[in-house]
Amino acid sequence: MRDSGLGVGVDVGVCQDEASHSPVWGPLRTPPVTCGGLSLALELPALIRQLRAAWRARRGGPRESERSEASRWVEAEKEEVEEGKQDIEDRSTHLEADGRLNAGHAGVLLAERRGSYPLIDLHILKTSAQQGEVESGTRRKVKRLLSFQRYCHASRLLRGLVPHTPGSLHLLDDDYLGQAGHMLSKVGTWNFDIFLFDRLTNGNSLVTLMCHLFNVYGLIHHFQLDMVKLHRFLGMVQEDYHSQNPYHNAVHAADVTQAMYCYLKEPKLAEQLSPLDVFLGLMAAASHDVDHPGVNQPFLIKTRHHLASLYQNTSVLERHHWRSTVGMLRESGLLSHLPIFDWDTDMEQQLGSLILATDISRQNEFLLTFREHLDNQDLDLQLASHRHFMLQIALKCADICNPCRAWELSRQWSERVCEEFYRQGDLERKFDLEISPMCNQQADSVPANQIGFISYIVEPLFEEWYRFTEPSLLSQTMMGHLHKNKACWSRLRYAQTSLETQTEGQV
Ligand SMILES: [Zn+2]
Repeated sequence: MRDSGLGVGVDVGVCQDEASHSPVWGPLRTPPVTCGGLSLALELPALIRQLRAAWRARRGGPRESERSEASRWVEAEKEEVEEGKQDIEDRSTHLEADGRLNAGHAGVLLAERRGSYPLIDLHILKTSAQQGEVESGTRRKVKRLLSFQRYCHASRLLRGLVPHTPGSLHLLDDDYLGQAGHMLSKVGTWNFDIFLFDRLTNGNSLVTLMCHLFNVYGLIHHFQLDMVKLHRFLGMVQEDYHSQNPYHNAVHAADVTQAMYCYLKEPKLAEQLSPLDVFLGLMAAASHDVDHPGVNQPFLIKTRHHLASLYQNTSVLERHHWRSTVGMLRESGLLSHLPIFDWDTDMEQQLGSLILATDISRQNEFLLTFREHLDNQDLDLQLASHRHFMLQIALKCADICNPCRAWELSRQWSERVCEEFYRQGDLERKFDLEISPMCNQQADSVPANQIGFISYIVEPLFEEWYRFTEPSLLSQTMMGHLHKNKACWSRLRYAQTSLETQTEGQV
């Protein structure tokens, strides 16, 4: 079963209980409540419920009359968990016979949510270091739960109140309003620190950012969106990113969304964009890497992954990101109130076209068309097709803009992406597969990878974007960072090479 879409499963019984200060044990089993006609009875993972019971007990515990019921409840939950573990162990044993998985992964599977890539992750998660990450993933989910419990408690939404100002932060609880709110007031600046924002929002940067931007643009009102459905959809998207990926995780999606917002604000583009363009641009940015397995397409093809055959070895990942997003859109019913032609035929297709444009193997195709348009000066942004093309370009730029950020942010992204590449390289080495370019930790250094990436992919595209914006202040800032960062990586590579030569000489 899919979880709540609120980051973790949220049992609304808990919120009711906390609001009324009534005994805690009864309401956990109360019937589901509804909000706006939509059921909010969403499952709380048994593990987290157990933790919650333990915390309550430590804090002084329930009254004597409640204690026996509490202990019965905890025992019942334990039994459920044990049954679940047994079930998973049975599945693990079954899979082991299939040669794909060995026993002892029950803990990993417990920590995993519904995902399409258990095979790859489980290989990676074998080492003790990775097990630590699974634990930290669980901690992260517990933190999100606590955040959303406070959200349920304080939310204007569940109290039936509509936020008064378009940009108000009704998704954040009071503890975080100050700092995260202050950051959101500067969301359009290029030095926005998405890592800090993610910490301030307890790992909910993508949901919070998207809701804020939808409010800023008035998209909720324009498309008559149901806030509960929107929140559920965004929660699903955020949760379907793999938090154990060093790079392709929900923070990357939030970062791309923030960059996309900066590009949508570019005067050359902003004046011409329709609400639908903005809606699609933000949605595509938020979901463009959803359920990314942390390995690239060639890896999926050479390991004969089922997605590679499903999408016939072409834009495998991007098609999966798109179709997953469409699945979540339909499951959440976010657009179900619109005429079917609008969302089924038009919106979904346009969303797909934007997400598919992020396929790096199509970089030259887009670059050449973009250059041609600029040379011929024939871009007419009154035309929907030309605006769509520019949204594709903007999303591509947002996706690879890390080297255009200030050094401190840029360096972190570079290290993360290389870490993900190296993990793939380690897997390839382990399974006697040819190691992919840039994935060999022993041969491909971070500075060397970054210099290649900047020179062949980032620079050519951003030079054209610079021309398109004629150039804007933001474009000038980005190019300034890009050149400085490239120079920094060159110095680091030089230092590294000199050190290696010195060491070799001494040997
Ligand atoms: Zn991406």
